[in-house]
Amino acid sequence: RQLPGDPRTDRMPREVLHAFYSNVSPSVEVENPKLVAWSQSVADLLDLDPEEFERSDFPMFFSGATPLVGASTYAQCYGGHQFGTWAGQLGDGRAITLGEVLNLRGERWELQLKGAGKTPYSRFADGLAVLRSSIREFLCSEAMHGLGIPTTRALCLVTTGKFVVRDMFYDGNPKEEPGAIVCRVAQSFIRFGSFQIHASRGKEDLKLVRLLADYTIKHHFPHLENLQQSNTLSFEIPQGDTPTIDLTSNKYAAWAVEVAERTASLIASWQGVGFTHGVLNTDNMSVLGLTIDYGPFGFLDAFDPSFTPNTTDLPGRRYCFANQPDVGLWNVAQFATTLASAELINKDEANYAMERYGTKFMDEYQSIMTRKLGLTKYNKQLISRLLNNLAVDKVDYTNFFRLLCNVKADPTIPEKDLLAPLKAVLLDIGKERKEAWVSWLQTYIEELVSSEVPDEERKAAMNLVNPRYVLRNYLCQSAIDAAEQGDFEEVRRLLKVMERPFDEQPGMEKYARLPPAWAYRPGVGMLSCSS
Ligand code: AMP
Ligand code: MG
Ligand code: MG
Repeated sequence: RQLPGDPRTDRMPREVLHAFYSNVSPSVEVENPKLVAWSQSVADLLDLDPEEFERSDFPMFFSGATPLVGASTYAQCYGGHQFGTWAGQLGDGRAITLGEVLNLRGERWELQLKGAGKTPYSRFADGLAVLRSSIREFLCSEAMHGLGIPTTRALCLVTTGKFVVRDMFYDGNPKEEPGAIVCRVAQSFIRFGSFQIHASRGKEDLKLVRLLADYTIKHHFPHLENLQQSNTLSFEIPQGDTPTIDLTSNKYAAWAVEVAERTASLIASWQGVGFTHGVLNTDNMSVLGLTIDYGPFGFLDAFDPSFTPNTTDLPGRRYCFANQPDVGLWNVAQFATTLASAELINKDEANYAMERYGTKFMDEYQSIMTRKLGLTKYNKQLISRLLNNLAVDKVDYTNFFRLLCNVKADPTIPEKDLLAPLKAVLLDIGKERKEAWVSWLQTYIEELVSSEVPDEERKAAMNLVNPRYVLRNYLCQSAIDAAEQGDFEEVRRLLKVMERPFDEQPGMEKYARLPPAWAYRPGVGMLSCSS
């Protein structure tokens, strides 16, 4: 008999009221599950011996088919704004937490299986994940970490040996795809929407917002507890018309500011590497400022500010590359409004958090772009002229910046030789466009000269911020095509390359190539939300 709340059997979709999570255990069916790939550096975080991954029962544990001793499995309740509209309860519809690992360094890491079966939050969907999207999530989690960008991590990827039906193109032709499960790892998966859901449910539930805020601060922002006593943090007082906000008197206000600033830094770092998330709904915004939920993401190939990797985002392009900083602010505003509605912060404090988002974003973005250009001081005009040139000529974002370090700080270089270091990325440009680039390079070289940094030193510094390798969608697709045929080597190779994206890796040059023509076929460059 199915008892309500029995974690082994109760996964009926429903509104879950007054609760942060529901106990539920994985229910995915497996048949000879296989380990596709695993991340050594995540295993190290968990003090997991590499030999564990060779155990024949490993895929049974990490598909969720065999329960782990000591696990306490659950799915989280959260809500969210999807594409700007309040969507009500969403929750972990296919992610099930196994529990937390306390490592030898005293850090807690939460392990979560994505695609392990239905939960009370599955709504109309199946609770499963396909190999295609699981490879994308697994590789991109680790690629982002390699780029130095905060992200949820991925320990391992296993196939279930079962098939899942997906209508990938919404063309009424569903097809069977191999099922798979990623084990995601993070210090917490709590999202903006984890707070929003309770604030949306009326006065009674506002105390849940406070309870969750207290929990989050205690475990993940402990430096904000007891601000008055310790008084070790000093915050700048804003100038001008903004009322003075004393963040030491209200830990929730200090926390709102920190969440806003972490979000701002995160999005600035995405802009730096050309990453477009694709589904920046408030349920996909981590309160820790991590990149979370790898769906139809994409790295820019040709620079295009209006690029969105998400077919569901057309024609509005709310989540396009250039809109991410504004969307981040919109999302922070929803979060701050939620805290204000629970009376944890007042209106001025909410506004202040938003203001700090803007300041932090500009500081970080300007600093990243300045470093990408190898300059010592920010030059707004130079950067906006460059971005304009890149967009007009559809220049590859990653390769352009990687090559830029070869430009010498030498004002005597004849005009006809100026473009030589960038030849490989400035393809098919006409005379008029050449002039625009020459003119930009002349100003750029003047700036380099005035910065007085030796060429070799600048080059080394630029190579630490301008990656040689990013996880382009077509690279994922090659690995997916091979894996669907049972060959996992390409996934493993890509993982190794993307773990060290700033290093020249002899023999791996092909992973830095521009996308081939087939990369533009449907389903490679752009995907839908639910794929
Ligand atoms: P996303 O657009 O990936 O952020 O997902 C939005 C919501 O849909 C979340 O609540 C997910 O848990 C849920 N969801 C997505 N795919 C599935 C699926 N295959 N089965 C159940 N729930 C899903
Ligand atoms: Mg999501
Ligand atoms: Mg998702």
